[in-house]
Amino acid sequence: EAVRNGTAEGHGLVLAGVTKRFADFTAVDDLSLTVPAGSFFALLGPSGCGKTTTLRMVAGLEQPTSGTIGIGGRDVTALPPYRRQVNTVFQSYALFPHMSVLDNVAFGLKQRRVRDARAQAKAALAMVELEHLGARKPAQLSGGQQQRVALARALVNRPAVLLLDEPLGALDMKLRRQMQVELKAIQTEVGLTFIHVTHDQEEAMTMADTVAVMNQGRVEQMGPPRQLYELPRTAFVANFLGRSNLMRGRVAEDLGQGLGVDVAGTRVVLPKARATEHHGSVVVGVRPEKVRIQRMDAPFTATANQLAGTVVDASFTGVSTEYLVDIPGVGLMGTFSQNLGQDPASPGEKVRLLWEPDYSFGLAGGEDTGAG
Ligand code: ATP
Repeated sequence: EAVRNGTAEGHGLVLAGVTKRFADFTAVDDLSLTVPAGSFFALLGPSGCGKTTTLRMVAGLEQPTSGTIGIGGRDVTALPPYRRQVNTVFQSYALFPHMSVLDNVAFGLKQRRVRDARAQAKAALAMVELEHLGARKPAQLSGGQQQRVALARALVNRPAVLLLDEPLGALDMKLRRQMQVELKAIQTEVGLTFIHVTHDQEEAMTMADTVAVMNQGRVEQMGPPRQLYELPRTAFVANFLGRSNLMRGRVAEDLGQGLGVDVAGTRVVLPKARATEHHGSVVVGVRPEKVRIQRMDAPFTATANQLAGTVVDASFTGVSTEYLVDIPGVGLMGTFSQNLGQDPASPGEKVRLLWEPDYSFGLAGGEDTGAG
């Protein structure tokens, strides 16, 4: 019950059955999740899936149509933003242009008449490695530095939950990667609960302990990044977190630990523990980097799943060669294999694709796979 109404100890954030409707449109649909205090949590999803609306409800800028929100062990659903222990860092830094960097960071503390506001602001600036730029105006800083000031300004209040709404969206790729590492290090150091909203899967995966993948107002799957990547439970999650080969098949045989699945007339093995469905039509998935490519005259590997096809494209990427192989009845499958060595396969060549059953995952067969 305590968990349900958001008042349990140790919980940074608890959403219980949170729904938000705008007229007859449901932006967030019966969302329930628990974020342990001190963790780095990412809400990941495509544009319009309801991430920002969720964040705004946590901040108190938007009232849920139904459901409850708990922050730091307290039901805050009815509280205004300033009475919640949250701070938000936005993509637009929203710094006061006429104030120095230090005054920007100290502003909230001074409003609340905190005694050593300047000293605390300096400490927060040191945390984001900007203590030497406290006297400058925001316009005299780079985008990345301004973003750090915005972060320091939020951290200085020691909120129970820090909300980050696409905070790195305005930065170029290189700076973005650097800030991802820094943000993660700062979160570990301060130990606050971070809720990070992004549509960038790599960003969510590199930074968060737990990722919730949202689609059309609902959480499709939630878990540690590696688990979501290696064992997606829906085609949406499989496709959103990197690339997947998805093959339609039908369960033909129960092998005890595994299922024998017919894929375009070829039998492949899918471990039951890695499948959401054990009967009827299923979709067998495997990540491209888990697929090996072999010439037809290579020694046969009996334990691996294998499908034969024709190379339609081979692109040298520097690290490896990326192949697209047409499998009759399945479609195009991708692989990044290097194991053909100095003698890459060429378009038109017949090859075998192989993968270990333990690298595959199985999805319910009825759903739209997003594959061609
Ligand atoms: P993005 O990554 O583009 O910011 P998002 O996942 O954050 O997307 P939201 O901003 O939460 O998505 O919006 C979810 C849906 O709710 C969208 O379809 C949006 O048009 C709709 N929506 C958001 N705010 C309102 C509003 N005030 N009135 C009506 N519809 C709204």
